[in-house]
Amino acid sequence: MAEYRIGVLGATGAVGQKFIHLLRNHPWFRVTALGASERSAGKTYRKATNWVESTEMPEDIANITVSTCDPSKMDVDFVFSGMDSGVATEIERAYAEAGIPVISNARNYRQHETVPLMVAEVNPDHAELIGCQQFDPEGDGFIVTNPNCVCIPLVMALKPLYDAYGVEEVIVTSMQAVSGAGYPGVPSLDILGNILPYISGEEDKIGVEPLKLLGQLNGGKVEFATFPIQATAVRVPVIDGHLLSVTARLAKKPKDLDELKQVVRSWKNPIADLNLPSSPAQPLRLYDDFRYPQPRHQSLAENGMQVGMGRLRMSNVLDVAFTALGHNTIRGAAGCSILNAELLHAKGYLKS
Ligand code: NAP
Repeated sequence: MAEYRIGVLGATGAVGQKFIHLLRNHPWFRVTALGASERSAGKTYRKATNWVESTEMPEDIANITVSTCDPSKMDVDFVFSGMDSGVATEIERAYAEAGIPVISNARNYRQHETVPLMVAEVNPDHAELIGCQQFDPEGDGFIVTNPNCVCIPLVMALKPLYDAYGVEEVIVTSMQAVSGAGYPGVPSLDILGNILPYISGEEDKIGVEPLKLLGQLNGGKVEFATFPIQATAVRVPVIDGHLLSVTARLAKKPKDLDELKQVVRSWKNPIADLNLPSSPAQPLRLYDDFRYPQPRHQSLAENGMQVGMGRLRMSNVLDVAFTALGHNTIRGAAGCSILNAELLHAKGYLKS
């Protein structure tokens, strides 16, 4: 069985802690190094981190001394990055140039021509872009990213419809949990008993990332999907789980609601046969009961890796309307990265 030595960059943050939590019993990946800012470097992880996970901090990780994010200080096979996007550009590039693959949550390289923006079940073939990267002349170091936490449930729910009918336009409102803002995040006086009608920077990402994810790989380039997306991102007083309300116009018209349900339920997960450790048995679940999915009750389904889809109906305005739910720090961040890394292992891109 493969065993990789893993570094986590941004290990002290909300996404970094989720990596530590999800990797604690991983069969292939063993965390051996932790990176964060100068504020944390030199301290043990226990001292440097305000642990917000509900499970105990793993004892072996608690005693690791945090370093700055410098590839020369980490003897690892690859790193996961949950780093602040304000500093990720230089640091992630330095790791890739040093021959250390970077599997990242940060937005900095998502639109880079040769960097795959990947959700393992949606566009696993985009991993081939790695062969076009030139960060490391030896070819060992590369960068792979996963999308924004809203785009993951959005594209997973759209994918069966996109394949069956084609999509012409999408209107989406994302009701986003407070954990999406990191720690300490949104002040309690702003969010308790309230909804914040704007999240800076979010709508631009939702408008473009799905188009790369649903794009076709052709001659070493991604030809983006071309439909417009109108996004409204709001912050709601929920701890974990982003709930999306989506309306879409389809290129081919569905016959009726039964056909739509059949299309969603018969969608085949292209990586199911690989039996990857973090792969959910059912990545997309369509609920018939209109009360579901709800953030509190369904965002942890299949260890937080399942996307829930509900309220599927014909639209009075466009063609189809539905809700989609994804756990923002698991499916929408750390869990998505870990599944991407497992896929890269299965495809032979990682060396231990
Ligand atoms: P966060 O809680 O603010 O954590 C940021 C991390 O970056 C901390 O570990 C921090 O270390 C580290 N950092 C800050 N400045 C640094 C520097 N100069 N050098 C090295 N490390 C530095 O943020 P987060 O919510 O975990 O988000 C992390 C990344 O994931 C962001 O790029 C975010 O956009 C993305 N993301 C977040 C979510 C989500 O739901 N939260 C979802 C998808 C993607 P110190 O503790 O030492 O300051």
